[in-house]
Amino acid sequence: MASNPSQHGPSDDQSVPRALRPYGRAPAREMGYCIYCGARGVRLTREHVIPHAIGGHLVLREASCDTCCQATAEVERAVLHESLLLFRTKLDYPTRKKQGRPARASLETGRPDDPTVLDVPVADAPAVLMLPVFAWPRWWAQRVGADGTVDGFGYRIVLLGTGGVARLLRDQQLDHVRFRVKTYDYAFARLLAKIAWGHAVLEWGRDAFEEVFVVPGILGSERDMGQWVGCPKKRVMTSGRVKLPSQPHHVGHAVLPEGWVVTSIQLFADIDPEMPEYMVVVGRLRQPSS
Ligand SMILES: [Zn+2]
Repeated sequence: MASNPSQHGPSDDQSVPRALRPYGRAPAREMGYCIYCGARGVRLTREHVIPHAIGGHLVLREASCDTCCQATAEVERAVLHESLLLFRTKLDYPTRKKQGRPARASLETGRPDDPTVLDVPVADAPAVLMLPVFAWPRWWAQRVGADGTVDGFGYRIVLLGTGGVARLLRDQQLDHVRFRVKTYDYAFARLLAKIAWGHAVLEWGRDAFEEVFVVPGILGSERDMGQWVGCPKKRVMTSGRVKLPSQPHHVGHAVLPEGWVVTSIQLFADIDPEMPEYMVVVGRLRQPSS
C-alpha cells in the first residue's frame, strides 16, 4: 500500500498544526444528507457533534441516516453509558433516561483475590474520569500497524468527590478501598474520530473532501483508528498559542499544506486543564486545480 500517498503523513515532525481555530458555541445547522455515507432523500436524524451526554451543545440537523446512526450509537453507548456512567451521574451531566442512572456503586476492600465488596450510595462513591493517553496517530508517525489498534501510554485519571470515601475509611476503620473502572480505548478513539468529523463537515461540508480517512472506522466497517487517532507529542491547544473559549471541551482544526485536515480535541478541559489532547487526521480537502 506504500504507493498510496495518504497512507503516510508528512515526514517532518515539526509540522504539528500551528494555527488551530477554536470553536465556541454555534447554532444548529441543517445538513440535509448523511454526513457518514452521503445518503440523501432518506430519513435523517440529528447529530450531536459532541455527545449531549457530556454537555455537547452543537447540533447538526438531518445529518445521519438510520443505518449510520445505529453504528455511531453503539460507540457512544460503550463510552458514555458504561465507562463514564458513574462520572456523568455524579457530575449530573444531561441524560435522556434519568431512571437509568445508578443509585448505588460498588467499592472493594481487602485482598484483591478475596475482596470484600462495599455497596455505597452513588453520592459516597468517587467520580472517576479516566481517559487514555495514546501514541501519535500511525499516519503521522509513518508507521502502518498490523491492525488498527490504538497504542496507549496510560491514562489521565481525575478523582472527584472523594469525601464519601474518606468517611467510609474512617467509619469502618479501613486502610484502603478500590474501585473498578471499565475502559474502552478503541471505542473512545472512534468517538474522538466522530467528534472530529462532525466539526469538519460543519466547517467544510462533506463534498469538500477528496478523501475521508475516518468514516469507515467510525462506522466500524474498518478497524483502523490507530492510523488516524492519537495524542500529539507536544500539546498544541493548551500550549498557550491558541486562545480558547472557556467551555468544557475544546476542538480546533488545522489544515496542512497538502490539504490534510487535522483536528485537535481536548475533552473535559474545564475539569482538568491537563486532560489529554487528542489529534485526529480526518481526511484531505480537494485542492484548487491550478
Ligand atoms: Zn448514512
